[in-house]
Amino acid sequence: MKTIVRTDERILSSDIFDRDGRVARPDHGVWSEPGRDIPVYHRCGVLVVGGGPSGTAAAASAARAGADVALLERYNHLGGLSTGGLVIWIDRMTDWEGQLVIRGFAEELFDRLPADAVAGPSREDWGSQDSAKASHWAQRTAAYHGIVTWSPTIDPERLKLLSQEIVLERKVKLIYHSWAAVPIVQDGAVKGVVFESKEGRMAIMADVVVDATGDGDLFARAGAAFVNDIEEADVHHCMNTSWLFGGVDMGRWIDFKAGRPDAFSAFMARGREQLGLFERPFVSWRNDVALFMGPRQSGYSALDVDDLTAVEVRSHRAMAAHLDFFRAHAPGFEDAYLMLSAPQIGVRHARRLSGVGAVLRSQWPEGRALADEIGVSPAVSPKFPNISIPYGALVPQRLDGLLACGRHISCDRNSHGFMREIPQCWITGQAAGTAAALASQGRIAPRAVEVTALQTALQAQGVYLRAGADGAGPVAERPSLETANS
Ligand SMILES: Cc1cc2nc3c(=O)[nH]c(=O)nc-3n(C[C@H](O)[C@H](O)[C@H](O)COP(=O)(O)OP(=O)(O)OC[C@H]3O[C@@H](n4cnc5c(N)ncnc54)[C@H](O)[C@@H]3O)c2cc1C
Repeated sequence: MKTIVRTDERILSSDIFDRDGRVARPDHGVWSEPGRDIPVYHRCGVLVVGGGPSGTAAAASAARAGADVALLERYNHLGGLSTGGLVIWIDRMTDWEGQLVIRGFAEELFDRLPADAVAGPSREDWGSQDSAKASHWAQRTAAYHGIVTWSPTIDPERLKLLSQEIVLERKVKLIYHSWAAVPIVQDGAVKGVVFESKEGRMAIMADVVVDATGDGDLFARAGAAFVNDIEEADVHHCMNTSWLFGGVDMGRWIDFKAGRPDAFSAFMARGREQLGLFERPFVSWRNDVALFMGPRQSGYSALDVDDLTAVEVRSHRAMAAHLDFFRAHAPGFEDAYLMLSAPQIGVRHARRLSGVGAVLRSQWPEGRALADEIGVSPAVSPKFPNISIPYGALVPQRLDGLLACGRHISCDRNSHGFMREIPQCWITGQAAGTAAALASQGRIAPRAVEVTALQTALQAQGVYLRAGADGAGPVAERPSLETANS
C-alpha cells in the first residue's frame, strides 16, 4: 500500500495500492480466433446493454415511449450497483430547498416500492433546517449542511423485483445471463451487439444501442472517443465490494457514535491500527442490518481482470476481519453475522464518453438551464444552484447508432462525482431510452433527434426540466467539450 489517507470525514479519500510493484503479466503468446457465422438471436428497435439504474430506466422509458426494446444483463437481476452492488443508499434527489428534482422514473420507483423497503425522512421534512431533524437524519444518510434531504436507503431485493416487473409490464424483452462482448459497427454506426451466454456466441441487431454498462464497454470497443482521467487519491477512482452485516442494532451504534464522540474516535483509531483497511457502517433500510460500502481501495483498474480479482479478495478478507472487530468492540454489533457480500463489485469509474456536450465544473456557479437540458441534478453543496444535464452528454462525438447513460456519460472529473450517483443515472437512463425510441421510430440517428420533441416526451413521463418544449426558464448554449476535463 502506497499511502493511507485517513480522517474521520474521509469523503474524498481512499487507501491507495501501489500497482507499480506488481509482477508483469507473463507473455503466453496469442491464439488466432477463426472467423465464423453466428446466429442472430433477436432484432429490435432499441437494445439496452446493462441493467443497472441507468439501463433499467432506459429500457423502461424507451418502451414507455413506444419502442420495441430488449434489455441485456450479464447477471441474474436488475439494478446493477444499486441492488447487486449493495449501494442501497440512494443519493440526494431533492435540491437544497427541498424541491424534488430527480423525478420521472425515480419517482415511479419510490411510489411503487413497499413502505417497509424504504427508510428516509418524510416528504414534509425535505429541505428542513430544523436542527433536531437535521442531526437525526445526518446519522442516517439524509441530512447534509444542516439540511434534511431525500436520500433514502432501500431494500435491494425489493428494488430488483420492482425493476424487473416494470420492464416486463412494458413488454421489454429481458435477457439475463448474457454478456455483451463486441458492438457490431458498420459505416460508422452501431447496428447491434455480439454477446456470449451458455448458448455460445449470438448477435442482437437494433436500430439504436444504449450503452449502460457503466464502464463504456460498447462505445470504447466501437471506437468512440473517451477519457479516463481521474485523481488516484480521489474517491471516484477507487473500488471495493460492499457487504451487509445482519443481527445488529443500528440504534445502539448511532447512540454510541453520536453520543460518545471520544469513544467513537478511539474505536476508529483502534480499528485502523488493527485492521489497516477499516470502514464504518451506514444505516440500511432496517435497524438490524448494517451497510459497509468500503474500505475503498484505489490504484486499481476496473478494466483489469487481475485488479478486479485483487479487490474482491481484499474486500472479502476485510469483511471477515471487520466482523471479528465489530463483534468485539462495537456497541450494537455483539450478535452480528456475515449476511451478504455484494454479487457485483463496486466500481465508481472506468471510462467516460467524450460527447458532443458534457456536464462541466464551469457550469456549477451559474446553474443555467441548457438548451438541450434532459434533466436537472441537485448541486454538490448549498452554495451552488441546480445543474443542467444536456442531451449532448449522452451523444458520442462521432459514432452513430449508440447513446450512453449512467456513470460513464460525458462530464469532467469534478462533475463525475455527482453524475455517477444513482439518481442521476436514472435521469440520464430515462433520457437515453426516450431519445433512442424517438430515433428508432423516426429512422434517424440519435444525434438528429429533435431536442424539443425529446423534452416534450420526457416531461410527459414526469421528468423535471426547466428549459423545454414550453420554453420556460433561462437557456444557455451547450457547453463546449474543449473545456471539459480541464
Ligand atoms: C462503493 C460505492 C458506493 C457508492 N455510493 C453511492 C451512494 O451512496 N449513493 C449513490 O446514489 N450512488 C453511489 N454510488 C454510485 C452508484 O452506485 C453507481 O455509479 C451507479 O449504480 C451507476 O449506475 P449505472 O447504471 O451507470 O451502472 P451500474 O450500476 O454499474 O450497472 C451496470 C450494469 O451493466 C451490467 N453490465 C456491465 N457490462 C456488461 C456487459 N458487457 N454485458 C452485459 N451487462 C453488462 C452490469 O452487470 C450492471 O448490472 C456508489 C458506487 C460505489 C461503487
